[in-house]
Amino acid sequence: MADKSLFRPALTRMMAYAPGEQPPPGKFIKLNTNENPYPPPPAVVDAIRGAAGGPLNRYPDPMATAFRRAAAERLNLPGPDWVLAGNGSDEILTLLVRGFVGEGQKLRLPYPSYILYRTLADIQGAAWEQVAFDDDWSLPEAFGNSDEDLRLVLLPNPNSPSGTVVSPNRVSQLADSLDCPLIVDEAYADFAEDNCLDLVQQNQRIMVTRTLSKSYGLAGIRFGFLVAQPDVIAELAKIKDSYNCDALSIAAATAAMGCSGWLSEVQEKMNATRSRLAERLSDLGFDVVPSQANFVWCRHPNGKHQQLYEFLKNNQILVRYMQFPDWGDGLRISVGTDEQINACLMLIERYLA
Ligand SMILES: *Cc1c(COP(=O)(O)O)cnc(C)c1O
Repeated sequence: MADKSLFRPALTRMMAYAPGEQPPPGKFIKLNTNENPYPPPPAVVDAIRGAAGGPLNRYPDPMATAFRRAAAERLNLPGPDWVLAGNGSDEILTLLVRGFVGEGQKLRLPYPSYILYRTLADIQGAAWEQVAFDDDWSLPEAFGNSDEDLRLVLLPNPNSPSGTVVSPNRVSQLADSLDCPLIVDEAYADFAEDNCLDLVQQNQRIMVTRTLSKSYGLAGIRFGFLVAQPDVIAELAKIKDSYNCDALSIAAATAAMGCSGWLSEVQEKMNATRSRLAERLSDLGFDVVPSQANFVWCRHPNGKHQQLYEFLKNNQILVRYMQFPDWGDGLRISVGTDEQINACLMLIERYLA
């Protein structure tokens, strides 16, 4: 047992963040962490092989310039200086909290949403404040209230675990009513109908984070990025590790930006599977929230979510059981391949029969 008095009090007080289970490969059909069920684009794998044959004795480009150029082009941004690359978007979120929220200050997040934001506040010795979504997963006005200690507002959009979205119009209004940065975490935006990238050019306080983990099937390489105005990017770059992204992941992410054909195919396939999953669950009596992400949030009137999770796990299918204090529980099921979703649905039918 470590001597607790050696650590900062903020650290000893906090709870560790618990990511979804990652069992050894092969044993389970994994529908619990919103990974892509399809392997990444072949061009990306080639790029990693190419980079592995490169000068690995040399440090990588500290700013991942090749990636920033490719991303700016792909996303129609004014230039590469609007992009900051990170070791997963989780690192970008860490930089944002570190950069904007001081000890004793506060960040805000909607509830239920991405619990990691709270962990990042805890690490910083900062406070967090949750504003509950309305019953239909829209945001109450209070989400846009400004107050003196509030230094950062984080909004996953599409949200997890619901898969619901807040419109760019509403995001823009929220940003206008706040006097701190509003981070739109677009981890799932590639599965959605709209996104907030254009807003970044209109308002310096709106920033968008993206990841290659979900839509590009690259959770294993750890790459995400921030889109913000160049002055903001330059400030935040001061606090990142000098070499936060390695040569292999930079090569992979740069190649991924050229795979728009692959991406639209996968988007189409997964969105079709998502509709089928949602419809069937709804036929089976679940309350299903219309999702614009690669997962579906559902609750059954019988309330046996944890039991169903256990039943599926005993039958080699992992979904995410989530329980939110003062709110309730439910299951988040990631969109897998059609075969995986069929297998999952068959078991759910069997459980309910
Ligand atoms: C998965 C996820 C991330 C993390 O993405 P990485 O790039 O893998 O770190 C960030 N935000 C939300 C809401 C997510 O679901």
